[in-house]
Amino acid sequence: MTDLDASPRAAAPTRVQAGPATPTATAQTAHRPLTGPGAALTEGLLHDWQSRNREASLPLALRQLEVAGNLDNLRAAAAAGDSAEPGAASYHGPVFMDSDVYKTLEAIGWELARDPDSGTGQTLAGFADAAITLLEQAQRPDGYLDSYIQVSGEPRYGRLASSHEMYCAGHLIQAAVALSRTAGQGPGGHEELAKRLLAVAQRVADHLVATFGGQERGLDGHPEVETALAELYRETGQRAYLDLARQFVEQRGHGLAGDSGRGHRYLQDHLPIRDTVTLEGHAVRALYLEAGVTDVASETGDADLLAGSVRRWEDMVATKTYLTGGNGSRHSDEAFGDRFELPPDRAYTETCAAIASFHWSWRLLLATGDARYADLMERLLYNAFGASISTNGQRFFYVNPLQRRYDHVEEDDPARRHEWFSCACCPPNIMRLLASVQHYLASTAGDTLYLHQFTGATVTTPLAGGTLDVAVSADLPWSGEVTVRVTQAPAGPCGLALRVPAWSGSPQLLVNGEPVQATAAQGYLTVTRTWQPGDVLAATFDLTPRWVYPHPRIDAVRGCAAVERGPLVYCFEHVDQADGTDLDDLALVAGSGLTESPATLAEIGRTVLVELDARPVRAGLPDELPFTATAPATDPGPVQRATAVPYFQWDNRDGQPMRVWLPGIMAE
Ligand SMILES: [Zn+2]
Repeated sequence: MTDLDASPRAAAPTRVQAGPATPTATAQTAHRPLTGPGAALTEGLLHDWQSRNREASLPLALRQLEVAGNLDNLRAAAAAGDSAEPGAASYHGPVFMDSDVYKTLEAIGWELARDPDSGTGQTLAGFADAAITLLEQAQRPDGYLDSYIQVSGEPRYGRLASSHEMYCAGHLIQAAVALSRTAGQGPGGHEELAKRLLAVAQRVADHLVATFGGQERGLDGHPEVETALAELYRETGQRAYLDLARQFVEQRGHGLAGDSGRGHRYLQDHLPIRDTVTLEGHAVRALYLEAGVTDVASETGDADLLAGSVRRWEDMVATKTYLTGGNGSRHSDEAFGDRFELPPDRAYTETCAAIASFHWSWRLLLATGDARYADLMERLLYNAFGASISTNGQRFFYVNPLQRRYDHVEEDDPARRHEWFSCACCPPNIMRLLASVQHYLASTAGDTLYLHQFTGATVTTPLAGGTLDVAVSADLPWSGEVTVRVTQAPAGPCGLALRVPAWSGSPQLLVNGEPVQATAAQGYLTVTRTWQPGDVLAATFDLTPRWVYPHPRIDAVRGCAAVERGPLVYCFEHVDQADGTDLDDLALVAGSGLTESPATLAEIGRTVLVELDARPVRAGLPDELPFTATAPATDPGPVQRATAVPYFQWDNRDGQPMRVWLPGIMAE
């Protein structure tokens, strides 16, 4: 804390240099994130995505933050000082433009630790230095910082339902925590930048504590600051930040967020969190709030609070989650729908919601040690999230539907990926996740290292008996062989645990080629022994393509089926089908086998295609009401092979129709 210390300083938590969501040593969690050097991606799809993020996406963000006016807003706030009058200076874009800068700074924080600046062009560290200088200049002496309020002259915290002041503060805090956690890592080093940004963020947090702590003064309409304050507590040991996070969580449901005109449900302010049974309202807000709820529950040991979050996660997965892992079926309010309201063409599944769900699931995974959270994270990563980025890393989806018709037009959901958006929440959010994605591969519990996601990586962590260092070789999602080579091991026994993905049967584990007994618990297979350098633990997961069918209550896709292979959801794009095929007519042939073939496609690169039998089922297009007293006559065409590609690779070619679900034959 700086000069506004509102509570006694807590004992500093054990300091670790780690990734996002690092509980303190006293937190009540089943698992711990890696400490020490942790994980690094060495090869494979996630490694390629992370490199692309650094080389193609982040430079784009640095340009866009200048072009879109985000940095000009901060310059205007710095110039205005304390004298802003309404209309005194022009402000660009939505009220939360600062948060795009903060998400980018967070991505830079993770990147600087992973890979130092190249030293050419506008370096990431150079951008961070300039942006932090702007923030230092714009921040008011009492710690307040929000370019929209400062430039517009609107009263501070005067309309919390829609001003996003604390939402922006939350992203600032997360950026500062990222730079601080990584400050001593990597040959680049960035201690000075980290210190300066953490000072800015703590002044903002101290201002929030002084303004809201212990009071019923208001809540931000967009949750996010809760999880950020918990992380700032973890990073600094200042209990006041955790107390404020807990206060904000507990105060929800009493109308303190106000009303932006969309009702209290939109803002998750319709029910106290402990009385909430299902996620409602704006999906990103609801999911960020749950990340904060889980953080607070873990740090305070509040089992009841955690149990509620777990129940809502179960409800969300069972009734409000798309096959791709995405959430939010309503364009109106970017919101969760009713249970089983999951139309593929009207799917909203905002990219930020996939990221927020990923964040929440990681926190629940740490809290409980259950593999099902890692299952959802994998589904999100390779599908709802993966599809939000073009193959070249320079175009992004905000909305991620599961079907696109040829005549699609919608202002809030452009037919194809865009380089940037007037509301650009998603692209820099993608960047901060990809820059830190290696932190979600593994965790520890006791003397066991748990591997949740399988990809080429090195994983190093101290266990009680010494350092365990392994090299993971895996080529998911393309092939199912996973090997874990031990390069350094404690003198005594320790465990290596592999998640058994929900899509695979339980594999036989081998150590140095010999079958071994493994202990199965909570979705993991664990081999405990005295490991020697050179030992290899191996497993093969079953990636055979498979059909998947929807629960009959999901009316929008009743009678349909889709294809999955390993963690990948597949889709049918117009460009891959036989000449003359209209994707809207294509129907499945019952009992069709699925065949797979590796391929390299122009504009997509490496993939595995899946083929099956389908046939066009045409009915004459109606010239009056498209409803008749008898089933419409159809004219099934000849059986043809239909080709599916991984959903995350769609819309990299001709922008033509796509669908994930295909109907069965209606009538012969
Ligand atoms: Zn977004």
